[in-house]
Amino acid sequence: MLFEEIIGNDELKRLLPQMVREGRLPHAVLFTEEGCWGAMAFALALAQYVNCERNTAPATPSMFGDAEPATPAEDSCGTCDSCHKYGKLIHPDLHFVFPVSAGKGLSDSEKKAPISDYFLPAWRELVLRKPYFSEQELYDAIGIENKSGVITVNEAKRILEKLSLRAFEGEYKTMIIYLPEKMNLDAANKLLKLIEEPPAGTLFLLVSHNPERILQTIRSRCQRIQLKPLSREERRAAGLTAAPNPEFAEILQRLLAVSLDKKLIDTFPLWESLSEMGRERQRDWCLYAEQYIRKIYLVASSLEALADLEGDEADPIRDFARRLSPAFYEKAFKALESALSSIDSNVNAKLTFCNLSNIFLLSA
Ligand SMILES: [Zn+2]
Repeated sequence: MLFEEIIGNDELKRLLPQMVREGRLPHAVLFTEEGCWGAMAFALALAQYVNCERNTAPATPSMFGDAEPATPAEDSCGTCDSCHKYGKLIHPDLHFVFPVSAGKGLSDSEKKAPISDYFLPAWRELVLRKPYFSEQELYDAIGIENKSGVITVNEAKRILEKLSLRAFEGEYKTMIIYLPEKMNLDAANKLLKLIEEPPAGTLFLLVSHNPERILQTIRSRCQRIQLKPLSREERRAAGLTAAPNPEFAEILQRLLAVSLDKKLIDTFPLWESLSEMGRERQRDWCLYAEQYIRKIYLVASSLEALADLEGDEADPIRDFARRLSPAFYEKAFKALESALSSIDSNVNAKLTFCNLSNIFLLSA
């Protein structure tokens, strides 16, 4: 991945190579984003950049005999041997850790202590196909679908082993940790010292969607870089659509419709199908519902220009805006926030979504 291939966050594309050139790159960087805004793409581009042969070329003696260090360019070359390997995510100095759990394709012994390495082919395929992937898309790709992944102490031991070796080919070894907030306490404790004082030439790049959930002792050892959200055009260019899943829109629109008609019995199948989704999908649905209801609210408040309506969503949104009670919006947002925290604290999903749909029905 080259910096110039990344969509959005243009300032950061200049800033990161500049930090490397000026020797200001910290050994642990925590990229944070609240959606798919390109943090993984930045981690990949930075890992490639620090080992690109054009940027690490040995100093050439000048005509006066003293060695002039080569000045790194503003991006990776994309053509050297190292760049080719980074382009396929197979460079021996590039390591990945991401949350996993026992998936279908694993052997019985692997299932006992699953680690990222077991899922690398599926991981590479996903990251190369869609660097702007969501957590749920990762779980779908590695075949653990409805389970939430974890980064365990077995993974932390593997990281220690890998980083105790010298870099094989490049100047830097890079460890990209996707969603460090999924690290359990044992794993985090095991990695603390390593992240604080990594061996020379080691770079930790963490990509987080929920940095407040990372253990404070880990977080404080990283330099944090917050990404900016992508514009609508950038989202489209990155292959991200407004509705992450057609099923999401269907369930929400039906829930709003039966709530308006006060048909309690028709809400049952809806909250049941929500409660059967995996937790990550449930959370995505709630975030989707918040966005959608915000649009209805804007239209109902005669601010349609701000609602950024796309394609065929305009008609149903205008219809809901005409019919929903003005008191609905605040109650719906509170109900969705409360559902999100229930999902995070593992409250029974049927109860969570039954409550949510009751509030919708009573306040619509
Ligand atoms: Zn290169």
